[in-house]
Amino acid sequence: MRVAGIVPAAGRGERLGHLVPKALVNVGALPLVVHAVAALLRAGADPVVVAAPPEAVDEVRRRAPRAVVVPGGAHRWQSVRLALDAVPADVDAVLVHDAARPFTPDDVIARVIAALAAGAPAAIPAIPLADTVKRVDGYGAVVETIDRTTLRAIQTPQGFRRDVLANAHDTADAETLDVTDDAALVEAMGLDVLTVEGDPRGFKVTTPWDLAVAEMLWERGMG
Ligand code: C5P
Repeated sequence: MRVAGIVPAAGRGERLGHLVPKALVNVGALPLVVHAVAALLRAGADPVVVAAPPEAVDEVRRRAPRAVVVPGGAHRWQSVRLALDAVPADVDAVLVHDAARPFTPDDVIARVIAALAAGAPAAIPAIPLADTVKRVDGYGAVVETIDRTTLRAIQTPQGFRRDVLANAHDTADAETLDVTDDAALVEAMGLDVLTVEGDPRGFKVTTPWDLAVAEMLWERGMG
């Protein structure tokens, strides 16, 4: 099974509040996108295609010379689609991995690949929720408490048989495409999406607090 990596890295990262695109923000002297690319390469993904902010394509190429870098789109799904178009025809499966997750452990990626190799059309890392979850109305009043044991927080890399992800993009309508992850497109097609065990270190750097945590983990040799 030939596996390629796809790294959507074209987001602005406004919640992080930096002037440079989030993918180029450093953790331990290396940009976030470089950490994500390195993890996929270690897992054997070939090639790893990065969808970069159009104005930062040259800079991402310079910082991640082992990746194939293409300009991304205005929406996350467009960035994934543009990267998928650059994946060679003989690739069987793709791993879509957020640029913003610098410390995803190798064994998480290995579990996603193993599930695909065993025949799953799609496999995604999941972790149980630590907090109680409630649904609220527009005024903040609690509507209901949701059974936490059946809920999971979903991380990346999200793995797909290549044809499954391509078909999902081709058949989804504009509204369905505007999801926060690619597995939702596959779910909308009625296909099975398998969860594998994720890891807290696979967290996404979204806010300045997350970035501070990432720096601390790096300094302690835990990243
Ligand atoms: O905004 P969020 O953190 O959910 O973005 C998840 C990933 O999708 C990030 O790695 C971001 O760079 C990427 N993205 C993209 N193209 C966009 C928007 C987000 O590649 N237009």
